[in-house]
Amino acid sequence: MYNNRELVPESVKAIWNECLSIIKDIVPEPAFNTWFSTIVPLKYEDNTLNIKVPSVFFYEYIEEHYCDLLKKTLTRVIGKGAKLRYTVLVENSEDTTVDLGGGHSTQPSSMPNRFDPFSVKTHEKIDSQLNPNYSFDSFVEGQCNKLARSAGQAIAKQPGGTFNPMFIFGGSGLGKTHLLHAIGLMAQELHPDKNVLYVTASKFQTQFTEATLNNKTNDFLNFYQQIDILLVDDIQDFAGKTATQNTFFQIFNHLHQSGKQLVLTSDRSPKLLQGLEQRMLSRFKWGLHAELEMPNFETRKEILLRKVEDDGLFIPNDVIDYIADSVTESVRAIEGVIISLLAQSTLTNAEINLELAKRVVGTTVNIAERNITISSIQQAVCDHYNLDISEIQTKSRKREVVQARQIAMYLARKYTKNSLSSIGEQIGNRDHATVLHACKTVTDLIDIDKGVRQSLDMIESSLK
Ligand code: ADP
Ligand code: MG
Repeated sequence: MYNNRELVPESVKAIWNECLSIIKDIVPEPAFNTWFSTIVPLKYEDNTLNIKVPSVFFYEYIEEHYCDLLKKTLTRVIGKGAKLRYTVLVENSEDTTVDLGGGHSTQPSSMPNRFDPFSVKTHEKIDSQLNPNYSFDSFVEGQCNKLARSAGQAIAKQPGGTFNPMFIFGGSGLGKTHLLHAIGLMAQELHPDKNVLYVTASKFQTQFTEATLNNKTNDFLNFYQQIDILLVDDIQDFAGKTATQNTFFQIFNHLHQSGKQLVLTSDRSPKLLQGLEQRMLSRFKWGLHAELEMPNFETRKEILLRKVEDDGLFIPNDVIDYIADSVTESVRAIEGVIISLLAQSTLTNAEINLELAKRVVGTTVNIAERNITISSIQQAVCDHYNLDISEIQTKSRKREVVQARQIAMYLARKYTKNSLSSIGEQIGNRDHATVLHACKTVTDLIDIDKGVRQSLDMIESSLK
């Protein structure tokens, strides 16, 4: 037992060698050689053995797979209360300290990284799986995607730079996949020597399962570690898949640690991602989060015009306006309406006009979302209260105007997919906090004020 003594380096080595001889009997030889033979014992004091590992990746792998074993071994060799402390040799840097959390301290070191289980011999060019149609050129810019778009371009120019990882989130059909490809395409064009890969989380999962079944996990890891820019779509699909998540976590750490770029998308914000491990979510905090929102009327119109032009179609202006105004669900739904419109007009040999558009929108878009827009809500609310729409657009603090405005905000939140800030912008040019407050006020009033409840019933039925 070496309890409570400070030891000279030789004795530290002796402790570690004793640990190694125990571990060697338990862990299979290849794993032992990979994970343990490269560890260097540094010092021992206060019951704590300090060891040096080559990278954060190493540290995490050991903690995850051998934590129990190490604990038991140390207790056997040192005695009760034995503790382990890691010092991580930081790759690509000599004076950065990595905060690993969990009470493990790390120190910078200038020792070269001697071993990397991921090291590959060749740098092969891989197929990026990018769709050339999903470029930045065809991705219409609007308030709804400004941040995501410009951050995406910054990443394509300088992968592994400031925004790493980048996390793009937003509802279905709002352009996440398109933007992910656009980043990849631009990066590939600017950096032809870099390996870019687009993969969906579910494809990653399938590949990983196959690799495991065929005893090819090493090839799988080797393949992923060659990537310079990894674009993973729909990571909410990792929920509940623990083994896949673990592997992805390792790849993520390895690439991030080596200064490689990661861009991830999800249909909800990281905060709402259930079934994903906390340590994974906490990694996402390192990077930039950008939300894609439903485009406003102007941007929807621009997307439509772009689409019509690119496909060489002719669609009259009033029809474009009608679609842009009534299809508020997603960009994908807008595209769906155009396709149906073309199909209908070809099949029935009818001209594309407002009447046909109304029919098509009626059948392709869900009724709840059909006609309810912020402007139709404002109209219905004003009709009910006998106000002019311009009044709720003003800063008026008159009681009935304030209430009408709040109800319009509440209904816009309930029936449209607009964000709080977009609702605020369209109803009286207020900020998102005002909209949130309005929604809360109305929700409270519904409980206590019969008049408000009745008014809401009437307005809501006039909307449908
Ligand atoms: P998500 O991955 O968020 O579900 P997609 O990227 O698949 O959505 O987008 C759905 C469709 O809408 C795609 O055809 C895409 O090209 C189109 N789209 C989305 N946003 C835009 C935009 N800003 N400009 C042009 N097309 C867009
Ligand atoms: Mg998608």
